Amino acid sequence: MKVIPLSEGTFTIDKSKLFVPFEEDKHELQERPVGSLLVEIQPFVIVTEKDVLLLDTGLGFTNQDGKLQLHQNLLDAGINPDSITKVLLSHLHKDHAGGACIKDKLTSLSSLSFPNAVYYLQQRELDFAFEKGFPSFIPAELTALKDSSNIVLLNDDNGVIDNYIHYQITGAHSPHHQVFWIKENDETIFFGADDAPQLHQMKHRFVAKYDFDGKKATELRKEWKEQGEKEGWTFLFYHDIKHPVYKF
Ligand SMILES: [Zn+2]
Repeated sequence: MKVIPLSEGTFTIDKSKLFVPFEEDKHELQERPVGSLLVEIQPFVIVTEKDVLLLDTGLGFTNQDGKLQLHQNLLDAGINPDSITKVLLSHLHKDHAGGACIKDKLTSLSSLSFPNAVYYLQQRELDFAFEKGFPSFIPAELTALKDSSNIVLLNDDNGVIDNYIHYQITGAHSPHHQVFWIKENDETIFFGADDAPQLHQMKHRFVAKYDFDGKKATELRKEWKEQGEKEGWTFLFYHDIKHPVYKF
């Protein structure tokens, strides 16, 4: 399988839960509020024998021409956004689901950013996003996920899509967060999204205050690292600046 990280850039995030762009040559981390975390935001494309998969969709920022940056990043990688066949969503926090839908500026109507793709997400996560709302979720940008026909709302805690995409709810980073294993031939790609966001957290025990169940996330990371190391998984780290794709 071929993996392509699609970085939307580097950002800092603090208690306000706002993502502020950070450029190394222009900005100083010390000038950001105390406790600010430096994170990359990077969805991934995986080209398999059957599909062109998109894993999470970033913040959904647009460039100067009003084009979704995610679409531009795909084009730059030689992939037509219309050729995405499946969108897999780990959870609906705004930095993961912001690019899932496009809101029309004039009519305010939301439509899917990848109209030819089937979207897979958890029903419970969708309900939760609308119940909780801002600042972690932006429901107004997610309405197309409720109303469109090519949405598959998953209800099971774990299962398999098309015999090769395995999903499992972890309830660690957030109550209905899910992770994915994509298995083709002898290869396994693991996408832990915000349960396993950076390489550093796989190597060092770290209980994050921002997690719903930080202890569980820590335990899971340990299990995944051990199993992944043994079985040669390729890890995708959504928030890692230096190591988006990694093998132990
Ligand atoms: Zn999150």
